[in-house]
Amino acid sequence: MHVTAIIAAGGRGTRFGAGRPKQLLLIGGRPILERSVTAFLDHPLVHEVVVAMPGELAGDPPAYLRRSLKPLLVVAGGPRRQDSVANAFHAASERADVVVIHDAARPFVSADLIARTITTAGACGAAVAAVPARDTVKRADRDRRSAYDERENDEASSGSLGAEMVVAETLRRETIFLAQTPQAFRPEVLRDALALGVGATDEATLVERTGHRVRIVEGETTNIKITTPKDLVIAEAIAGTAESRTASTFSRAGTGYDLHRLVPGRPLVVGGVTVPSEIGALGHSDADVVCHAITDAILGGACQGDIGQHFPDNDPRWKGASSLDLLTSATQMVADAGFEVGNVDVTVILEVPKLRDHISAMRSAIAAAIGIDRARVSIKAKTNEGLDAIGRGEAVAAHAIAMLRQHE
Ligand code: MG
Repeated sequence: MHVTAIIAAGGRGTRFGAGRPKQLLLIGGRPILERSVTAFLDHPLVHEVVVAMPGELAGDPPAYLRRSLKPLLVVAGGPRRQDSVANAFHAASERADVVVIHDAARPFVSADLIARTITTAGACGAAVAAVPARDTVKRADRDRRSAYDERENDEASSGSLGAEMVVAETLRRETIFLAQTPQAFRPEVLRDALALGVGATDEATLVERTGHRVRIVEGETTNIKITTPKDLVIAEAIAGTAESRTASTFSRAGTGYDLHRLVPGRPLVVGGVTVPSEIGALGHSDADVVCHAITDAILGGACQGDIGQHFPDNDPRWKGASSLDLLTSATQMVADAGFEVGNVDVTVILEVPKLRDHISAMRSAIAAAIGIDRARVSIKAKTNEGLDAIGRGEAVAAHAIAMLRQHE
């Protein structure tokens, strides 16, 4: 089943009063729009994402909308919500079996709710996420005696609705659902609904008007729509809860390994320190196994490839390069991807000479290259007990592990 997600981000946030569109405001350090788009880009059932934004933003979209592993399109929105959705639908792949639409202003939608909405629409043609009413529901009418009431009781009229509304009846709460997004539709159902050309606050309303049945999928109370500045307070609380859970569960680990031959006439550079030795490590750069193993561990923890990919040994830029510089570059690379190095731990395996007296200098050099305290850099030296190539003194090797933490 091919699924296209449409993110409706066409609003200019006029109700919000902020200096810029509300979908670009930060919650827990991340833009609302980036959170909403990522929920769909990362979803295994979704194949492409189309974002409808105000024209001026669509022409110069933020960096997180410029590259993605899945097809990601940005289109200009229209004057009304359904115009924006229609523009996005027009740009979407014709292969779509289901189109799922989501408000950019609902950044906390869960992967589970997205999946249930898509699956239900695939089976029934149309599905809307909605939460059952928890409060008793009153239908209200305008009070014909309001002019008299306002004169008599000024305080009662100070609420936002004024004193003009009175209860006409109490509805059966079990029949009341409050619609959210995602809302998902088979493409022919959505096409017919948009073709009506009438205004509505959501797509399900249009589909209902075509006579197509819309299935309700139980929504989530945390799937709030950020509409007014007061909602930001609740949003920060939801983000804080979710992220403290993420931070403790999803620290990232990476491992690295390196080995270089030992030959006469080369310097022996280990952990950024030149160790006095008759023989040294053979390689294109300074052949520092400790720096190379740590570099791979850091890149690995961030899923950013490996040292050979970023610093190829046939590239003249890295000939004779200090491997401390490669380590600094790799640290910068993962920082750009949102990661910070927590600590590194290394085991060097070398038969001779003994490294014991150089460990402290190595730790300082590595810590400076990564930009962390030396208390977070551990280096241990071992021999191979005379066994194998390393034991015969023909090679030096290192194993490293790095812990990374994702920036907020
Ligand atoms: Mg190497």
